Amino acid sequence: MNQHHLFFLALSTSIKRKGSSVTCPICAKTLYDKHSLRKHEDAVHFNIRPHACRHCGKAFSLRNDLKDHVLAVHAKVKVGQSSKHHN
Ligand SMILES: [Zn+2]
Ligand SMILES: [Zn+2]
Repeated sequence: MNQHHLFFLALSTSIKRKGSSVTCPICAKTLYDKHSLRKHEDAVHFNIRPHACRHCGKAFSLRNDLKDHVLAVHAKVKVGQSSKHHN
């Protein structure tokens, strides 16, 4: 019973990922779903940037980009998970 359930889960997951992907009509980039496509269009093609940095005013289309910016530029703290910097 459990094995069957797991198999169904894996199967439905792979189908869901394949079936729901969409293609941007402007640049033909493949996005995971309509929501991602809309965000992509806003950010890349319409240049909409709703996430402004409270420290320097620089605006970003994606919340993650703003987060990265704040961490990289304004937060001078060591991020333990990042291993980009080898001295
Ligand atoms: Zn596009
Ligand atoms: Zn900033």
